Amino acid sequence: MTAAEHEPEHSAGYEVDTLIVGAGFAGLGLGIRLRRRAEETGAAASFLILERAHDVGGTWRDNVYPGVACDIPSHLYSYSFRTKPDWSHVYPSGAELQEYLRECAREEGVLPHLRFGETVTDARWDADAGRWLVTTPRGSYRARALVSAVGRLSEPRVPGIKGLHTFTGRVLHTAAWDSSLALRDKRVGLVGTGSSGVQLLPYLAREAAHVTVFQRSAPYVVPRGDRAYTLEEQERFTDPLERQRMRDEIFWQAESAFPQRLGEPEAIGQLHDRARVHLESQVADPALRAALTPDYEIGCKRVPLSDEFYPALTRPNVTLEASALERVDGTTAIAGSGARHDLDVLVFATGFHAARPPFADLVTGRDGIRLAEHWAQGMRAYASIVVAGFPNLFVLDGPNASLGHNSAIYMIEAQLDYVLGALDHLERTDAPLEIPRAAEDAYLAALDAAAADTVWLSGCTSWYVDERSGRLTLLWPGYAHTFRERNGTFDAAVFDGAPIPAR
Ligand SMILES: Cc1cc2nc3c(=O)[nH]c(=O)nc-3n(C[C@H](O)[C@H](O)[C@H](O)COP(=O)(O)OP(=O)(O)OC[C@H]3O[C@@H](n4cnc5c(N)ncnc54)[C@H](O)[C@@H]3O)c2cc1C
Repeated sequence: MTAAEHEPEHSAGYEVDTLIVGAGFAGLGLGIRLRRRAEETGAAASFLILERAHDVGGTWRDNVYPGVACDIPSHLYSYSFRTKPDWSHVYPSGAELQEYLRECAREEGVLPHLRFGETVTDARWDADAGRWLVTTPRGSYRARALVSAVGRLSEPRVPGIKGLHTFTGRVLHTAAWDSSLALRDKRVGLVGTGSSGVQLLPYLAREAAHVTVFQRSAPYVVPRGDRAYTLEEQERFTDPLERQRMRDEIFWQAESAFPQRLGEPEAIGQLHDRARVHLESQVADPALRAALTPDYEIGCKRVPLSDEFYPALTRPNVTLEASALERVDGTTAIAGSGARHDLDVLVFATGFHAARPPFADLVTGRDGIRLAEHWAQGMRAYASIVVAGFPNLFVLDGPNASLGHNSAIYMIEAQLDYVLGALDHLERTDAPLEIPRAAEDAYLAALDAAAADTVWLSGCTSWYVDERSGRLTLLWPGYAHTFRERNGTFDAAVFDGAPIPAR
Protein backbone atom coordinates (compact mmCIF):
# COMPACT_ATOMS: atom_id res chain seq x y z
CA MET A 1 0.00 0.00 0.00
CA THR A 2 1.68 3.24 -1.00
CA ALA A 3 0.81 6.73 0.04
CA ALA A 4 0.26 7.80 -3.55
CA GLU A 5 -2.39 5.15 -4.10
CA HIS A 6 -4.81 6.53 -1.57
CA GLU A 7 -4.01 10.16 -1.05
CA PRO A 8 -6.39 12.76 -2.45
CA GLU A 9 -4.97 15.61 -4.49
CA HIS A 10 -7.41 18.00 -2.88
CA SER A 11 -10.80 17.75 -1.28
CA ALA A 12 -13.03 20.77 -0.79
CA GLY A 13 -16.29 20.24 1.04
CA TYR A 14 -16.34 16.48 0.40
CA GLU A 15 -19.57 15.13 1.93
CA VAL A 16 -20.00 11.74 3.58
CA ASP A 17 -22.36 10.25 6.14
CA THR A 18 -19.60 9.18 8.52
CA LEU A 19 -16.10 10.54 8.90
CA ILE A 20 -13.66 8.47 10.91
CA VAL A 21 -10.37 9.95 12.13
CA GLY A 22 -7.60 7.39 12.60
CA ALA A 23 -6.81 4.05 10.96
CA GLY A 24 -5.68 1.93 13.89
CA PHE A 25 -7.60 -1.07 15.23
CA ALA A 26 -10.59 1.15 16.10
CA GLY A 27 -10.99 3.23 12.92
CA LEU A 28 -10.17 0.34 10.63
CA GLY A 29 -12.51 -1.95 12.57
CA LEU A 30 -15.38 0.48 12.06
CA GLY A 31 -14.49 0.76 8.37
CA ILE A 32 -14.65 -3.02 8.00
CA ARG A 33 -18.00 -3.23 9.78
CA LEU A 34 -19.42 -0.43 7.62
CA ARG A 35 -18.18 -2.11 4.43
CA ARG A 36 -19.66 -5.44 5.44
CA ARG A 37 -22.97 -3.81 6.40
CA ALA A 38 -23.16 -2.08 3.03
CA GLU A 39 -22.54 -5.39 1.29
CA GLU A 40 -25.26 -7.09 3.30
CA THR A 41 -27.85 -4.36 2.70
CA GLY A 42 -26.80 -3.39 -0.81
CA ALA A 43 -26.67 0.26 0.30
CA ALA A 44 -23.74 2.54 -0.55
CA ALA A 45 -21.04 2.76 2.13
CA SER A 46 -20.76 6.51 2.68
CA PHE A 47 -17.73 6.88 4.91
CA LEU A 48 -14.12 7.96 4.84
CA ILE A 49 -11.22 7.31 7.18
CA LEU A 50 -8.77 10.20 7.51
CA GLU A 51 -5.32 9.07 8.64
CA ARG A 52 -2.42 11.46 9.17
CA ALA A 53 0.21 8.81 8.47
CA HIS A 54 0.78 6.91 5.24
CA ASP A 55 -0.34 3.47 6.29
CA VAL A 56 -2.93 1.82 8.51
CA GLY A 57 -1.96 0.32 11.86
CA GLY A 58 -1.82 3.13 14.44
CA THR A 59 0.05 1.82 17.47
CA TRP A 60 1.56 -1.09 15.53
CA ARG A 61 2.68 1.07 12.63
CA ASP A 62 4.36 3.68 14.85
CA ASN A 63 5.93 1.51 17.53
CA VAL A 64 8.67 -0.41 15.79
CA TYR A 65 11.34 -0.47 18.48
CA PRO A 66 13.09 -3.84 18.89
CA GLY A 67 11.06 -6.12 21.14
CA VAL A 68 7.72 -4.36 20.61
CA ALA A 69 4.92 -6.83 21.17
CA CYS A 70 1.47 -7.18 22.63
CA ASP A 71 0.79 -8.49 26.14
CA ILE A 72 -2.50 -10.10 25.11
CA PRO A 73 -2.33 -13.41 23.21
CA SER A 74 -2.77 -13.22 19.43
CA HIS A 75 -5.99 -15.21 19.25
CA LEU A 76 -7.74 -12.64 21.42
CA TYR A 77 -5.91 -9.46 20.36
CA SER A 78 -7.48 -9.47 16.89
CA TYR A 79 -10.94 -8.83 15.45
CA SER A 80 -13.57 -11.41 16.43
CA PHE A 81 -15.02 -10.94 12.95
CA ARG A 82 -11.69 -11.66 11.28
CA THR A 83 -9.82 -14.31 13.19
CA LYS A 84 -6.54 -15.76 11.93
CA PRO A 85 -5.40 -19.39 12.15
CA ASP A 86 -1.69 -18.95 11.59
CA TRP A 87 -0.48 -16.60 14.30
CA SER A 88 3.20 -17.41 14.63
CA HIS A 89 3.41 -17.05 18.43
CA VAL A 90 1.19 -17.09 21.49
CA TYR A 91 1.82 -13.32 21.78
CA PRO A 92 1.91 -11.26 18.59
CA SER A 93 4.88 -9.07 17.77
CA GLY A 94 4.21 -5.51 16.68
CA ALA A 95 5.27 -6.40 13.14
CA GLU A 96 2.84 -9.33 12.92
CA LEU A 97 -0.03 -7.15 14.14
CA GLN A 98 0.87 -4.49 11.60
CA GLU A 99 0.83 -7.08 8.81
CA TYR A 100 -2.53 -8.38 10.07
CA LEU A 101 -4.06 -4.89 9.98
CA ARG A 102 -2.72 -4.22 6.48
CA GLU A 103 -4.21 -7.47 5.29
CA CYS A 104 -7.56 -6.61 6.91
CA ALA A 105 -7.65 -3.22 5.16
CA ARG A 106 -6.77 -4.78 1.82
CA GLU A 107 -9.00 -7.83 1.90
CA GLU A 108 -12.03 -6.19 3.48
CA GLY A 109 -12.24 -3.55 0.73
CA VAL A 110 -11.52 -0.60 3.03
CA LEU A 111 -8.66 0.90 1.01
CA PRO A 112 -10.89 3.02 -1.26
CA HIS A 113 -12.31 4.65 1.88
CA LEU A 114 -8.91 5.58 3.31
CA ARG A 115 -7.30 8.99 2.90
CA PHE A 116 -3.67 8.91 4.00
CA GLY A 117 -1.58 11.97 4.81
CA GLU A 118 -4.73 13.71 6.09
CA THR A 119 -4.14 15.28 9.51
CA VAL A 120 -7.32 16.63 11.01
CA THR A 121 -6.56 20.10 12.35
CA ASP A 122 -10.09 21.28 13.11
CA ALA A 123 -13.54 19.76 13.55
CA ARG A 124 -16.58 21.87 14.41
CA TRP A 125 -20.27 21.18 14.73
CA ASP A 126 -22.46 23.27 12.42
CA ALA A 127 -25.75 23.31 14.32
CA ASP A 128 -27.72 24.89 11.47
CA ALA A 129 -26.70 22.23 8.99
CA GLY A 130 -26.57 19.42 11.55
CA ARG A 131 -23.18 18.42 10.17
CA TRP A 132 -19.56 18.24 11.31
CA LEU A 133 -17.15 20.40 9.33
CA VAL A 134 -13.71 18.87 9.36
CA THR A 135 -10.55 20.50 8.11
CA THR A 136 -7.16 19.13 7.11
CA PRO A 137 -4.29 21.01 5.46
CA ARG A 138 -5.45 19.50 2.15
CA GLY A 139 -9.11 20.35 2.26
CA SER A 140 -12.39 20.08 4.10
CA TYR A 141 -15.13 17.53 4.74
CA ARG A 142 -18.75 17.57 5.89
CA ALA A 143 -20.22 14.62 7.70
CA ARG A 144 -23.34 13.75 9.65
CA ALA A 145 -21.35 11.74 12.19
CA LEU A 146 -17.78 12.18 13.33
CA VAL A 147 -15.96 9.24 14.87
CA SER A 148 -12.76 9.92 16.76
CA ALA A 149 -10.52 6.86 16.50
CA VAL A 150 -7.31 8.76 17.21
CA GLY A 151 -6.11 6.38 19.92
CA ARG A 152 -5.12 7.01 23.49
CA LEU A 153 -1.48 6.09 23.10
CA SER A 154 -0.71 7.90 19.87
CA GLU A 155 0.95 11.16 21.00
CA PRO A 156 4.43 10.41 22.41
CA ARG A 157 5.31 12.22 25.63
CA VAL A 158 8.83 13.37 26.50
CA PRO A 159 9.05 14.79 30.02
CA GLY A 160 10.38 18.33 30.40
CA ILE A 161 13.97 17.50 31.37
CA LYS A 162 16.07 20.53 32.23
CA GLY A 163 18.92 21.04 29.74
CA LEU A 164 17.73 18.31 27.35
CA HIS A 165 18.33 20.69 24.43
CA THR A 166 22.03 20.78 25.36
CA PHE A 167 22.41 17.02 24.87
CA THR A 168 24.98 16.51 22.15
CA GLY A 169 24.02 12.93 21.35
CA ARG A 170 20.95 11.42 19.76
CA VAL A 171 17.53 11.64 21.45
CA LEU A 172 14.63 9.42 20.47
CA HIS A 173 11.29 8.15 21.76
CA THR A 174 10.30 4.50 21.55
CA ALA A 175 7.29 5.46 19.40
CA ALA A 176 9.62 7.05 16.82
CA TRP A 177 12.36 4.45 16.66
CA ASP A 178 15.10 4.76 14.04
CA SER A 179 15.96 1.27 12.85
CA SER A 180 19.14 2.55 11.16
CA LEU A 181 20.55 3.64 14.52
CA ALA A 182 23.80 1.76 15.19
CA LEU A 183 24.38 1.25 18.91
CA ARG A 184 27.65 -0.64 18.91
CA ASP A 185 30.24 1.36 20.93
CA LYS A 186 27.47 3.65 22.18
CA ARG A 187 26.57 4.52 25.77
CA VAL A 188 22.80 4.53 25.91
CA GLY A 189 20.48 5.98 28.53
CA LEU A 190 17.05 4.36 28.70
CA VAL A 191 14.52 6.58 30.47
CA GLY A 192 11.51 4.73 31.83
CA THR A 193 10.74 1.17 32.90
CA GLY A 194 7.10 0.88 31.86
CA SER A 195 5.94 -1.63 29.23
CA SER A 196 8.02 -0.20 26.35
CA GLY A 197 11.19 0.21 28.40
CA VAL A 198 10.86 -3.35 29.68
CA GLN A 199 10.46 -4.66 26.11
CA LEU A 200 13.34 -2.62 24.68
CA LEU A 201 16.02 -3.10 27.34
CA PRO A 202 17.08 -6.67 26.36
CA TYR A 203 17.91 -5.45 22.84
CA LEU A 204 19.81 -2.39 24.08
CA ALA A 205 21.76 -4.56 26.52
CA ARG A 206 22.79 -6.90 23.69
CA GLU A 207 23.67 -4.18 21.19
CA ALA A 208 25.10 -1.20 23.05
CA ALA A 209 28.47 -0.81 24.76
CA HIS A 210 26.72 0.27 27.93
CA VAL A 211 23.18 0.98 29.06
CA THR A 212 22.05 3.12 31.98
CA VAL A 213 18.44 2.51 32.94
CA PHE A 214 16.76 5.45 34.65
CA GLN A 215 14.05 4.01 36.85
CA ARG A 216 11.73 6.49 38.60
CA SER A 217 9.73 3.68 40.16
CA ALA A 218 10.32 -0.04 39.85
CA PRO A 219 7.83 -2.01 37.74
CA TYR A 220 6.32 -5.31 38.83
CA VAL A 221 7.20 -7.78 36.08
CA VAL A 222 5.61 -11.20 35.60
CA PRO A 223 6.69 -14.11 33.36
CA ARG A 224 5.70 -13.96 29.70
CA GLY A 225 6.17 -17.55 28.60
CA ASP A 226 5.85 -16.81 24.90
CA ARG A 227 6.47 -19.56 22.36
CA ALA A 228 5.98 -20.30 18.68
CA TYR A 229 2.84 -22.17 17.67
CA THR A 230 3.60 -25.54 16.12
CA LEU A 231 2.43 -26.39 12.61
CA GLU A 232 0.00 -28.88 14.15
CA GLU A 233 -1.53 -26.18 16.30
CA GLN A 234 -1.82 -23.81 13.35
CA GLU A 235 -3.47 -26.59 11.39
CA ARG A 236 -5.93 -27.13 14.24
CA PHE A 237 -6.75 -23.40 14.23
CA THR A 238 -7.90 -23.60 10.61
CA ASP A 239 -11.13 -24.84 12.20
CA PRO A 240 -13.12 -21.69 13.18
CA LEU A 241 -14.56 -23.51 16.20
CA GLU A 242 -11.05 -24.17 17.51
CA ARG A 243 -10.15 -20.49 17.09
CA GLN A 244 -13.29 -19.48 18.94
CA ARG A 245 -12.57 -21.96 21.70
CA MET A 246 -9.07 -20.53 22.10
CA ARG A 247 -10.38 -16.94 22.08
CA ASP A 248 -12.92 -17.76 24.77
CA GLU A 249 -10.35 -19.53 26.89
CA ILE A 250 -7.93 -16.59 26.80
CA PHE A 251 -10.73 -14.08 27.37
CA TRP A 252 -12.18 -15.77 30.45
CA GLN A 253 -8.75 -16.47 31.87
CA ALA A 254 -7.98 -12.74 31.61
CA GLU A 255 -11.37 -11.90 33.16
CA SER A 256 -10.61 -14.16 36.09
CA ALA A 257 -7.69 -11.84 36.91
CA PHE A 258 -9.95 -8.82 37.44
CA PRO A 259 -10.41 -9.40 41.22
CA GLN A 260 -6.69 -8.53 41.48
CA ARG A 261 -7.58 -5.04 40.28
CA LEU A 262 -10.30 -4.85 42.90
CA GLY A 263 -7.57 -5.48 45.44
CA GLU A 264 -9.15 -8.71 46.69
CA PRO A 265 -6.52 -10.02 49.11
CA GLU A 266 -6.25 -13.61 47.85
CA ALA A 267 -6.15 -12.62 44.18
CA ILE A 268 -3.69 -9.80 44.71
CA GLY A 269 -1.56 -12.03 46.94
CA GLN A 270 -1.23 -14.58 44.14
CA LEU A 271 -0.18 -11.94 41.61
CA HIS A 272 2.23 -10.44 44.10
CA ASP A 273 3.82 -13.85 44.68
CA ARG A 274 4.18 -14.42 40.94
CA ALA A 275 6.06 -11.14 40.53
CA ARG A 276 8.20 -11.70 43.64
CA VAL A 277 9.21 -15.24 42.67
CA HIS A 278 10.02 -14.03 39.14
CA LEU A 279 12.30 -11.31 40.49
CA GLU A 280 13.96 -13.62 43.01
CA SER A 281 14.56 -16.37 40.47
CA GLN A 282 16.14 -14.00 37.95
CA VAL A 283 18.10 -11.56 40.12
CA ALA A 284 20.52 -12.98 42.67
CA ASP A 285 22.17 -9.76 43.86
CA PRO A 286 20.25 -8.54 46.99
CA ALA A 287 21.04 -4.86 46.35
CA LEU A 288 19.79 -5.03 42.77
CA ARG A 289 16.73 -6.98 43.93
CA ALA A 290 15.96 -4.33 46.50
CA ALA A 291 16.26 -1.58 43.89
CA LEU A 292 13.88 -3.54 41.65
CA THR A 293 11.25 -4.02 44.36
CA PRO A 294 8.27 -1.73 43.83
CA ASP A 295 6.86 0.36 46.68
CA TYR A 296 3.23 0.53 45.55
CA GLU A 297 0.40 -1.98 45.18
CA ILE A 298 0.72 -4.40 42.28
CA GLY A 299 -1.59 -3.64 39.35
CA CYS A 300 -1.79 0.08 40.18
CA LYS A 301 0.39 0.64 37.09
CA ARG A 302 0.37 -1.65 34.04
CA VAL A 303 2.19 -4.93 34.84
CA PRO A 304 4.67 -5.76 32.06
CA LEU A 305 5.28 -9.37 30.97
CA SER A 306 8.91 -10.25 30.33
CA ASP A 307 11.34 -13.13 30.76
CA GLU A 308 14.31 -11.07 29.55
CA PHE A 309 14.09 -7.78 31.43
CA TYR A 310 15.62 -8.88 34.74
CA PRO A 311 18.41 -10.95 33.12
CA ALA A 312 19.32 -7.91 30.99
CA LEU A 313 19.70 -5.85 34.16
CA THR A 314 22.19 -8.35 35.56
CA ARG A 315 24.57 -7.94 32.62
CA PRO A 316 27.91 -6.23 33.32
CA ASN A 317 27.24 -3.57 30.67
CA VAL A 318 23.95 -2.48 32.28
CA THR A 319 23.60 -0.06 35.21
CA LEU A 320 20.33 0.45 37.03
CA GLU A 321 20.00 4.07 38.11
CA ALA A 322 17.18 3.81 40.63
CA SER A 323 16.06 7.40 40.26
CA ALA A 324 14.61 9.58 37.54
CA LEU A 325 16.57 11.47 34.92
CA GLU A 326 16.52 15.05 36.17
CA ARG A 327 18.91 17.13 34.15
CA VAL A 328 21.12 16.99 31.11
CA ASP A 329 24.29 18.95 30.61
CA GLY A 330 26.01 18.33 27.28
CA THR A 331 26.85 14.64 27.21
CA THR A 332 26.11 14.15 30.91
CA ALA A 333 22.78 12.92 32.22
CA ILE A 334 22.22 13.73 35.89
CA ALA A 335 19.85 11.55 37.90
CA GLY A 336 17.70 12.45 40.89
CA SER A 337 20.24 10.63 43.09
CA GLY A 338 22.92 13.08 41.92
CA ALA A 339 24.75 10.39 39.94
CA ARG A 340 26.20 11.53 36.59
CA HIS A 341 26.19 9.34 33.49
CA ASP A 342 28.01 10.15 30.26
CA LEU A 343 25.88 9.11 27.29
CA ASP A 344 25.82 9.11 23.49
CA VAL A 345 22.14 8.22 23.03
CA LEU A 346 19.04 8.93 25.14
CA VAL A 347 15.97 6.79 24.56
CA PHE A 348 12.71 7.94 26.11
CA ALA A 349 10.34 5.10 26.93
CA THR A 350 8.13 7.61 28.68
CA GLY A 351 4.74 6.85 27.21
CA PHE A 352 2.08 9.06 25.74
CA HIS A 353 -0.24 12.00 26.36
CA ALA A 354 -2.91 9.53 27.39
CA ALA A 355 -5.11 11.47 29.80
CA ARG A 356 -5.03 14.73 27.83
CA PRO A 357 -5.44 13.77 24.17
CA PRO A 358 -4.28 16.63 21.93
CA PHE A 359 -7.15 15.82 19.55
CA ALA A 360 -9.56 17.32 22.12
CA ASP A 361 -8.08 20.76 21.36
CA LEU A 362 -9.20 20.47 17.75
CA VAL A 363 -12.87 19.60 18.28
CA THR A 364 -15.52 22.30 18.83
CA GLY A 365 -19.07 21.31 19.70
CA ARG A 366 -22.36 23.11 20.14
CA ASP A 367 -22.10 26.72 21.43
CA GLY A 368 -18.42 26.91 20.51
CA ILE A 369 -17.24 24.71 23.40
CA ARG A 370 -14.01 22.87 22.74
CA LEU A 371 -13.76 19.24 23.78
CA ALA A 372 -10.59 20.08 25.74
CA GLU A 373 -12.63 22.60 27.79
CA HIS A 374 -15.37 20.06 28.43
CA TRP A 375 -12.62 17.69 29.53
CA ALA A 376 -10.80 20.29 31.68
CA GLN A 377 -11.07 17.97 34.70
CA GLY A 378 -10.42 14.82 32.69
CA MET A 379 -12.01 12.91 29.84
CA ARG A 380 -15.72 12.17 30.26
CA ALA A 381 -18.41 10.63 28.08
CA TYR A 382 -21.70 8.86 28.50
CA ALA A 383 -21.34 5.11 27.85
CA SER A 384 -17.64 5.93 27.38
CA ILE A 385 -18.48 7.13 23.86
CA VAL A 386 -20.87 10.11 23.48
CA VAL A 387 -20.25 13.57 24.93
CA ALA A 388 -22.73 16.21 26.16
CA GLY A 389 -22.54 19.30 23.92
CA PHE A 390 -21.02 17.34 21.02
CA PRO A 391 -23.87 16.00 18.87
CA ASN A 392 -23.20 13.07 16.54
CA LEU A 393 -19.65 12.66 17.89
CA PHE A 394 -18.47 9.18 18.88
CA VAL A 395 -15.19 8.70 20.72
CA LEU A 396 -13.63 5.25 20.36
CA ASP A 397 -11.03 3.93 22.80
CA GLY A 398 -11.42 7.12 24.87
CA PRO A 399 -12.76 7.87 28.37
CA ASN A 400 -12.93 4.79 30.62
CA ALA A 401 -12.83 2.45 27.63
CA SER A 402 -9.45 0.77 28.24
CA LEU A 403 -8.49 -2.17 30.40
CA GLY A 404 -5.56 -3.15 32.55
CA HIS A 405 -6.39 -6.86 32.49
CA ASN A 406 -7.87 -7.84 29.12
CA SER A 407 -7.83 -7.01 25.39
CA ALA A 408 -8.40 -3.50 24.06
CA ILE A 409 -9.85 -5.01 20.90
CA TYR A 410 -12.75 -6.54 22.82
CA MET A 411 -13.60 -3.07 24.18
CA ILE A 412 -13.25 -1.43 20.77
CA GLU A 413 -15.59 -4.02 19.24
CA ALA A 414 -18.25 -3.34 21.88
CA GLN A 415 -17.99 0.33 20.91
CA LEU A 416 -18.27 -0.50 17.20
CA ASP A 417 -21.60 -2.20 17.91
CA TYR A 418 -22.77 0.91 19.73
CA VAL A 419 -21.71 3.21 16.87
CA LEU A 420 -23.36 1.03 14.23
CA GLY A 421 -26.64 1.20 16.18
CA ALA A 422 -26.34 4.97 16.47
CA LEU A 423 -25.51 5.40 12.78
CA ASP A 424 -28.60 3.34 11.85
CA HIS A 425 -30.66 5.62 14.04
CA LEU A 426 -29.16 8.74 12.46
CA GLU A 427 -29.84 7.41 9.00
CA ARG A 428 -33.49 6.89 9.87
CA THR A 429 -34.09 10.20 11.64
CA ASP A 430 -31.33 12.60 10.50
CA ALA A 431 -32.01 14.43 13.80
CA PRO A 432 -28.87 15.27 15.84
CA LEU A 433 -28.12 12.89 18.66
CA GLU A 434 -26.90 14.66 21.76
CA ILE A 435 -26.60 13.04 25.14
CA PRO A 436 -28.04 15.12 28.00
CA ARG A 437 -25.46 16.39 30.50
CA ALA A 438 -27.46 14.74 33.30
CA ALA A 439 -26.97 11.32 31.69
CA GLU A 440 -23.23 11.93 31.34
CA ASP A 441 -23.01 13.06 34.98
CA ALA A 442 -24.95 10.05 36.26
CA TYR A 443 -22.79 7.65 34.23
CA LEU A 444 -19.64 9.27 35.62
CA ALA A 445 -20.91 9.13 39.19
CA ALA A 446 -21.51 5.39 38.78
CA LEU A 447 -18.00 4.91 37.33
CA ASP A 448 -16.38 6.93 40.10
CA ALA A 449 -18.15 4.82 42.70
CA ALA A 450 -16.96 1.62 41.01
CA ALA A 451 -13.40 2.96 40.67
CA ALA A 452 -13.08 4.03 44.30
CA ASP A 453 -12.08 0.59 45.57
CA THR A 454 -9.83 -0.43 42.71
CA VAL A 455 -6.10 -0.82 42.93
CA TRP A 456 -5.68 1.98 40.34
CA LEU A 457 -6.69 4.55 42.96
CA SER A 458 -4.50 3.05 45.67
CA GLY A 459 -1.97 5.87 45.52
CA CYS A 460 0.59 5.31 42.76
CA THR A 461 1.18 7.78 39.92
CA SER A 462 -0.02 6.36 36.62
CA TRP A 463 -1.34 7.51 33.27
CA TYR A 464 -4.64 5.84 34.05
CA VAL A 465 -5.50 8.67 36.46
CA ASP A 466 -6.03 12.31 35.46
CA GLU A 467 -3.77 14.43 37.63
CA ARG A 468 -6.15 17.40 37.49
CA SER A 469 -9.08 15.65 39.16
CA GLY A 470 -7.56 12.45 40.53
CA ARG A 471 -10.27 10.57 38.61
CA LEU A 472 -9.67 7.27 36.86
CA THR A 473 -10.37 8.46 33.30
CA LEU A 474 -8.64 5.88 31.11
CA LEU A 475 -9.78 2.55 32.47
CA TRP A 476 -13.13 0.83 32.74
CA PRO A 477 -13.36 -0.06 36.43
CA GLY A 478 -14.96 -3.44 35.85
CA TYR A 479 -14.85 -6.72 33.99
CA ALA A 480 -14.54 -6.44 30.20
CA HIS A 481 -17.78 -8.36 29.65
CA THR A 482 -19.68 -5.88 31.82
CA PHE A 483 -18.46 -3.10 29.54
CA ARG A 484 -20.08 -4.85 26.60
CA GLU A 485 -23.27 -5.50 28.55
CA ARG A 486 -23.45 -1.88 29.65
CA ASN A 487 -22.11 -0.05 26.58
CA GLY A 488 -22.31 -2.37 23.58
CA THR A 489 -25.83 -1.44 22.49
CA PHE A 490 -27.10 1.94 21.36
CA ASP A 491 -30.18 3.10 23.28
CA ALA A 492 -31.95 6.09 21.71
CA ALA A 493 -34.25 6.62 24.71
CA VAL A 494 -31.39 7.92 26.90
CA PHE A 495 -30.85 10.74 24.40
CA ASP A 496 -34.46 11.81 25.00
CA GLY A 497 -33.95 12.01 28.73
CA ALA A 498 -34.94 8.48 29.80
CA PRO A 499 -33.22 7.35 33.02
CA ILE A 500 -29.86 5.73 32.44
CA PRO A 501 -29.70 1.96 32.91
CA ALA A 502 -28.16 0.69 36.15
CA ARG A 503 -24.66 -0.78 35.78
C1 LIG B 1 3.79 -0.03 22.66
C2 LIG B 1 2.34 -0.32 22.92
C3 LIG B 1 1.96 -1.57 23.38
C4 LIG B 1 0.61 -1.85 23.62
N1 LIG B 1 0.28 -3.07 24.09
C5 LIG B 1 -1.03 -3.35 24.33
C6 LIG B 1 -1.40 -4.62 24.86
O1 LIG B 1 -0.55 -5.45 25.16
N2 LIG B 1 -2.72 -4.89 25.04
C7 LIG B 1 -3.69 -3.96 24.75
O2 LIG B 1 -4.87 -4.26 24.93
N3 LIG B 1 -3.35 -2.74 24.26
C8 LIG B 1 -2.06 -2.41 24.06
N4 LIG B 1 -1.70 -1.17 23.60
C9 LIG B 1 -2.76 -0.16 23.37
C10 LIG B 1 -3.09 0.01 21.88
O3 LIG B 1 -2.90 1.35 21.60
C11 LIG B 1 -4.52 -0.43 21.64
O4 LIG B 1 -4.62 -1.80 21.96
C12 LIG B 1 -5.01 -0.27 20.19
O5 LIG B 1 -4.05 -0.64 19.25
C13 LIG B 1 -5.49 1.14 19.95
O6 LIG B 1 -6.06 1.23 18.68
P1 LIG B 1 -6.73 2.61 18.24
O7 LIG B 1 -7.22 2.44 16.86
O8 LIG B 1 -7.70 3.05 19.28
O9 LIG B 1 -5.57 3.70 18.31
P2 LIG B 1 -4.15 3.84 17.48
O10 LIG B 1 -3.70 2.49 17.14
O11 LIG B 1 -3.35 4.70 18.33
O12 LIG B 1 -4.62 4.56 16.17
C14 LIG B 1 -4.94 5.93 16.14
C15 LIG B 1 -4.69 6.48 14.74
O13 LIG B 1 -5.19 7.81 14.67
C16 LIG B 1 -4.30 8.59 13.89
N5 LIG B 1 -4.49 10.01 14.24
C17 LIG B 1 -4.29 10.58 15.45
N6 LIG B 1 -4.57 11.91 15.38
C18 LIG B 1 -4.95 12.17 14.11
C19 LIG B 1 -5.36 13.35 13.43
N7 LIG B 1 -5.43 14.55 14.04
N8 LIG B 1 -5.68 13.26 12.11
C20 LIG B 1 -5.61 12.07 11.45
N9 LIG B 1 -5.22 10.91 12.05
C21 LIG B 1 -4.89 10.96 13.36
C22 LIG B 1 -2.93 8.03 14.29
O14 LIG B 1 -1.95 8.34 13.33
C23 LIG B 1 -3.22 6.54 14.39
O15 LIG B 1 -2.99 5.88 13.17
C24 LIG B 1 -0.37 -0.85 23.38
C25 LIG B 1 0.02 0.41 22.95
C26 LIG B 1 1.36 0.69 22.73
C27 LIG B 1 1.74 2.08 22.26
